[in-house]
Amino acid sequence: MTSRVLLLDIEGTVCPISFVKEVLFPFFSGKVDSLVQSNEPVVRELLAQFPQDKQHCLQEYILELVDRDIKDPVLKQLQGHVWEQGYEQGEIKAPVYRDAIELIRRSGDVYIYSSGSVKAQKLLFGHVEDPNGGSCLDLQPFIRGYFDINTSGKKTDSESYRRILKDIGREASDVLFMSDNELELDAASEAGLNTILAVRPGNAPISGNDRYEILTDYSTL
Ligand SMILES: [Mg+2]
Repeated sequence: MTSRVLLLDIEGTVCPISFVKEVLFPFFSGKVDSLVQSNEPVVRELLAQFPQDKQHCLQEYILELVDRDIKDPVLKQLQGHVWEQGYEQGEIKAPVYRDAIELIRRSGDVYIYSSGSVKAQKLLFGHVEDPNGGSCLDLQPFIRGYFDINTSGKKTDSESYRRILKDIGREASDVLFMSDNELELDAASEAGLNTILAVRPGNAPISGNDRYEILTDYSTL
């Protein structure tokens, strides 16, 4: 491998796609009951921003937003708050693949680019489940920078990758972008980056890929 810098997607690349839907979302839903009764000022302040006519049935309203996958900014902030506490209290641990943990540790020059917010990315890499059953691992010291759609733009837009190159001060040919999404790889390769298609258990099936090198095990990288 000639690329010296790694730019990594998260879901479907370094951890299972199911983590968000099967762990993070249910964790939040399970906390809504105590959330609406919370006396925490930050929570009260957020809840007060929901519509006036929903204030008498907040629990049902919030669960409905989650169920219908509504991108509500207040809901997003509440979720971020609940997940942060969950990570900090050890109730949530991020299931980063063992070979991805090793890749991140040995690479030295790793950046992350995910649609999830930079804040959420840092929480995730700061609270990684130890595959050997020990206490949580903190991979943040091995990661040089984080990018999301707010810092850099959509992941399917080649301009986003040019912005990231500028931010990290590297040439496109120095950087290897790994993702499970071929549209993201299309955009990255249009910007001149090297690319690898991550194929992991639970990912959506890829359709007739003949453009990208496939990797199912990062220990060979
Ligand atoms: Mg992905």
